[in-house]
Amino acid sequence: MSDKYCARCGKMLPEGSLKYMVHIQILSDFDGVLPYAEDDLSEEIQTLLKKMEDMDVQELEDEVYQEISFVLCERCKKLFARDPLNSETVIFPLNKKLENLIH
Ligand SMILES: [Zn+2]
Repeated sequence: MSDKYCARCGKMLPEGSLKYMVHIQILSDFDGVLPYAEDDLSEEIQTLLKKMEDMDVQELEDEVYQEISFVLCERCKKLFARDPLNSETVIFPLNKKLENLIH
């Protein structure tokens, strides 16, 4: 087994060092509701089929199911676990939105 590197900071993680494997599964969460009137459904299906023709197989698979795996060092694992959605760097943080509503 060879040395690995932290996917976040690039730190070398030699054999035997403390490291964490992160495995993420992203699944399409279809709730059974189609947001179209029945009359529009065949038109929507045609539009969807046309869109699918322009996508490659990998894109189509990723629309439904995606797996991502990477290794993190101890420090980056703590940061990732504390904020897995990276919400601290979102363009419009929630508190900014609230400030805008108050003014
Ligand atoms: Zn790291």
